[in-house]
Amino acid sequence: MNNSFSKLLSIVIATVIVLSTFTTAFAVDNEEEVSTTETTVTTTTEPVTESSDPTEPTKPTINYSGVAGENLRYYFNRNNGTLHISGIGTTMKNYSKKDLPPWHSFASNVKAVYVNKATNLTNIGSYMCADMINLQNIYYSKKLKSIGKCAFLNTKKLTALTLNQNISRINVDAFKGSKTPLIKVMNPSLSINFGGYTIPKTTKIQCYGTNTPIYKYARVNGNNVILMISSITLNTKEVVCKEKTTTVKANFNPSIATNKKVQWFTTNKNIATVDSKGKVKVKKKGTCYVYCKSTDGSNKTSNKMKIIVTSFQLYQYIFTNNNCYKERTAIDPKGIVVHSTGENAPYLRTYVPAWNVPKPGGREVCVHAFLGKNSKGKLEVWQVLPFEMACWGVGGGPKGSYNYNPGYIQFECCEDSKYNRTYFNQVYDEATDFCAYLCLRYSLPYTKVTSHAGACAEGYGSAHGDIDHWLKIYGKNMNDFRNTVKKKIYKIDKNPDLKSGTKHKKIKAKSDMYVWSKDIVDEYGNSSKKLQKISKGREVTFLRDNFNGWSYVQISNKKGYVQNNLTNLAYGSKYVKKKVNYKGTYLYTKPCGNKYKVKFLSYNTRVQLVSTINKGKKKGYSYVCYKNKYYYVKTNTLY
Ligand SMILES: [Zn+2]
Repeated sequence: MNNSFSKLLSIVIATVIVLSTFTTAFAVDNEEEVSTTETTVTTTTEPVTESSDPTEPTKPTINYSGVAGENLRYYFNRNNGTLHISGIGTTMKNYSKKDLPPWHSFASNVKAVYVNKATNLTNIGSYMCADMINLQNIYYSKKLKSIGKCAFLNTKKLTALTLNQNISRINVDAFKGSKTPLIKVMNPSLSINFGGYTIPKTTKIQCYGTNTPIYKYARVNGNNVILMISSITLNTKEVVCKEKTTTVKANFNPSIATNKKVQWFTTNKNIATVDSKGKVKVKKKGTCYVYCKSTDGSNKTSNKMKIIVTSFQLYQYIFTNNNCYKERTAIDPKGIVVHSTGENAPYLRTYVPAWNVPKPGGREVCVHAFLGKNSKGKLEVWQVLPFEMACWGVGGGPKGSYNYNPGYIQFECCEDSKYNRTYFNQVYDEATDFCAYLCLRYSLPYTKVTSHAGACAEGYGSAHGDIDHWLKIYGKNMNDFRNTVKKKIYKIDKNPDLKSGTKHKKIKAKSDMYVWSKDIVDEYGNSSKKLQKISKGREVTFLRDNFNGWSYVQISNKKGYVQNNLTNLAYGSKYVKKKVNYKGTYLYTKPCGNKYKVKFLSYNTRVQLVSTINKGKKKGYSYVCYKNKYYYVKTNTLY
C-alpha cells in the first residue's frame, strides 16, 4: 500500500465512522443536550492514523438547543427534523463562514425550519440555512423583513419559497448553490440584487404585483421571471344586447403580465355562452353574467359582467350640445315617463342626432332616449342623455315636475300615422322591454312607470295626452302597459343570477378629493356642495358611472359624486372634450378675474370640461382639466 492511498483510505473510514456515530446519537438520545462545548462533526480533512480504534471514535458533542441571537433560541426536534426558532428577540445573529450557526453541525439533518409565529423576528440571519441540503420547507412569520447573506446556501431540496409582502431586502449570495425551483415574490417593490447567486438563474421567479423594475432587471440577467396577474377587469359592467354577439375584453394588472391566457365562464349558458376568446353569443331573453379566471397560477377571477338580453338594442349618442345636457343636473331616477312624439315621423333620424343642438326647434327640450325606426325600418332605442341626468321632457304641474324632483327617466316613442297596427305592436313590445330593463337597472317598481298624460294627472307634468292617446286606439291603457312591464321584469328577474354579483365595488381615491352633492365642481356658485373630504388612499363604494367623467358613490351613509379622474376607477367615463375657440382663452386658478390668470391657451387647444358654473356670482366660468391639472376658464371661450 503506498502512502497516499493509505491516507485516502483512512479518511474514508473516518468519514463512515463519524457519520454512523452521529446517526446513532441521533436515534438514541432524546434529551436536549445543554453542553456549551464547541464541537464539529466535519472532521474528514484530518487523517486518522491506522492505529486508532475504529470502534471508539471521539464522540462529538452536538447542541440541539441554544441561543440564536438576542432573546432568541433554537431547538431541534430530532424526531421530525424540524429546527424551531423562538423567543421575543427581533434580530437573529448574522453568522459567517468562520462563525457558522450552532445547528450547522447537523445541518444536513434539518428537513424543516419553523420560525415561531409569536416571534418578532424580522430577519433570517446570514448562513441561517446554509448547507441544509435536505431542507424542504421553511415557515416564517409575516414580520420578516430581510434575508441575510448566504442564508440558503446549498439548500438543494427547498421546493418553493414565498417572499412575503414585508420582505424588502435580500442580501447577496442568499441562494448561492441552492436549487430552489420556484420563488414567489409577493412584495411588488422588492428590489432583488440578481447579480451573483442572490437568486439562481435556474429558479423560476413569480412576481405578484406591478413592479416593473424587478421584471426588467431580472430579464437583463436572464432569470426566469414570471409576472403574475394581480387583477383582471372586464371592460364593461354590463351589456344590453339583442340576439347578437359581443366580445368581452379583459384588462390585466399588471398590463405586462407574462401569461394573459384566461378561461371564460357564463353563469347561465341558456341565456348567453362565451367562448375561449371572450366572444359572447346571446341565446334568449334574460340576465346572466360572464367572467374569466387566470390560468397562470395566480388564481384571479375577474369582475362579473352582466349580460342583459332583451328584445331591444340600446345604442348611445349623447346630445352634448343640447342645453339640457349643458345644465347637467343630476338625478337619482325614481320612475319612468313614456312619451310619444305626436307627429307622423317614425324614423329616428328626425330626432337623432337632429336634437343635438342647444334648442331643438327653438324649444328647450330633451329626453333620455328615443325609440323608433332606423333607416332600414328596424326598431332601435337610442340613449341621448345619461340616465342620471335630468331631462327636459314632461314640463311641470301643480305638485312639481318629473324632470327634476323627483327625477324620472323619460323617452319618446316615434309615432307614425298611429294606424299601423304592426308598428304599434313593435313599439309597445320594445317600449315595455326598455322599461323592464330600466326598472331592473335602477331598482324601480313597475308602478312608477307612467306616461306624459299620467304625469299630468299626478300633478307633475304639463297637459299632454301622450302616449295614452296612441294606446287607446288599440284598446290599451297605461295599466296594461305597466302590467306588461311587470311580467317582463319577472321573466328576467326570476333568474336567480340577477341577485348575485350585484355587490358594489370599492374605488380608491388616487389623491385627496371630495364627494360633491352634484356631479359638478362649484364651490363658488355654491350649487354643488362638498359633502365630505376623501383623503388619498381611502375607499368609497362605487354605485354607478354617470357617463360624464363622474361617478355616484357612497361613503358611510352619504351619497354623492366624485370625479373619475381622481379615483382608481380604471374604465370610468371621461370628461367631455372641448376646444378653445378662435380667440383663445386664459386658465385661471380661481374664477375671480385677471388676478388669477395663469396661462394663455391658443386657438383649438383641447381641454376636458369638468363642469360649468350656472348659478351664483361666478356664473360664466367652467372648471376644466388641462394636462392633468384643474383650472377655471370663461365658459364662452370653449366650443
Ligand atoms: Zn310628452
